[in-house]
Amino acid sequence: MFKINDNYLKLPGSYLFSTIAKKVAAFEKANPDKKIIRLGIGDVTLPLAPAVITALHTAVDEMGGKNSFKGYAPDQGYEFLRRAIIDNDFKTRGVELDLDEVFVSDGSKSDAANIGDIFSVDNKIGVCDPVYPVYVDSNAMSGRAGSYVAETERWDNLIYMPCKEENGFAPEFPQEVPDIIYLCFPNNPTGSTIKKDQLQEWVDFANKNKSVIIYDAAYEAYISEADVPHSIYECEGAKTCAIEMRSFSKNAGFTGTRLAYTIVPKDLLCGGVSVNGLWARRHGTKFNGAPYIIQKAGEAVYSEEGKKQTAEQVAYYMKNAKLIREGLAEAGYSVSGGINAPYIWLKTPNNMTSWEFFDHLLEKANVVGTPGSGFGPNGEGYFRLTAFGSYENTVAALDRIKKL
Ligand SMILES: *Cc1c(COP(=O)(O)O)cnc(C)c1O
Repeated sequence: MFKINDNYLKLPGSYLFSTIAKKVAAFEKANPDKKIIRLGIGDVTLPLAPAVITALHTAVDEMGGKNSFKGYAPDQGYEFLRRAIIDNDFKTRGVELDLDEVFVSDGSKSDAANIGDIFSVDNKIGVCDPVYPVYVDSNAMSGRAGSYVAETERWDNLIYMPCKEENGFAPEFPQEVPDIIYLCFPNNPTGSTIKKDQLQEWVDFANKNKSVIIYDAAYEAYISEADVPHSIYECEGAKTCAIEMRSFSKNAGFTGTRLAYTIVPKDLLCGGVSVNGLWARRHGTKFNGAPYIIQKAGEAVYSEEGKKQTAEQVAYYMKNAKLIREGLAEAGYSVSGGINAPYIWLKTPNNMTSWEFFDHLLEKANVVGTPGSGFGPNGEGYFRLTAFGSYENTVAALDRIKKL
């Protein structure tokens, strides 16, 4: 008889977003006259930039041409895109990379979840709390997280690194050293960042302990402050301990078109074995390349017009972020984030739990956000608002919140 991977049976239900959807649907049904504003969105809302659309059209036409049709893409991505990535995202910051250190894929969510394939089940995993749930659930699926303990809302074999207000929502070094450390900066959900010297400390920690850092830089384009690193490879020694993930989803609106890349340096070795070689093998076996059309669209993001147009989109969202951040502060809330990230993390007033504040905001202001406790126990008492709505809706939502 066949057997399933029973690690899946240990996963708790995805309580957060289904509960939000149910609560909002029930409220809408009971109050059909009320206009709900959603500031919980984790997806971009602006249309694709004109330079991207033009590149898509051109690539589609090529596919219909007898001599320009494209079949399977190279496993690691077309050279034109990998060159554009290296030249624009890394060379400009003093980082040299070889073409075969760049792996183009269809998304950072899948890369973040799949990277575990090349690491032993015996590795101890360190995650931030609160956290982007993919890091936790993918390790649970592969048997690295142990068992889920409902009372503590924690997996018993993970090392949790609390991110608290007193540390600017950056993790502290854990007492037990993880073999694999997941870091995400600028952070989802807290919107926090760490400075270059702080990230250097993590790189030094990893090199000293022979750990690997999985660095998720999905929100890199939102960085506005000069001392915040855009890539972990800006830190000395990062090539021997870090894998970096970037996505076209949040900087260029590719959430629906799908494109991302992962950097695995050739200097990253484990007992003489090249981690780059393992990921190349994994990629070649389980992934058949991102579509030509989408890679051409990705190349257009790095064109002069593409850079200008996508920067304008990021600026649009960051204008919303500023509005939310300053509006909430004016209304007496304790807020963070929103400076280098499209996420604003607020402390719930009057010691409300995250879910009590969710209900309060929905019922009294008809505004939907995301309870911080859904991202981990240390998110309790916090709440996430996002800058991905329209400017008009963001203004209206803030007016309502100020009147509470
Ligand atoms: C949105 C997001 C990504 C991007 O995922 P894609 O699969 O590339 O769309 C990666 N990491 C975090 C933390 C995110 O919030």
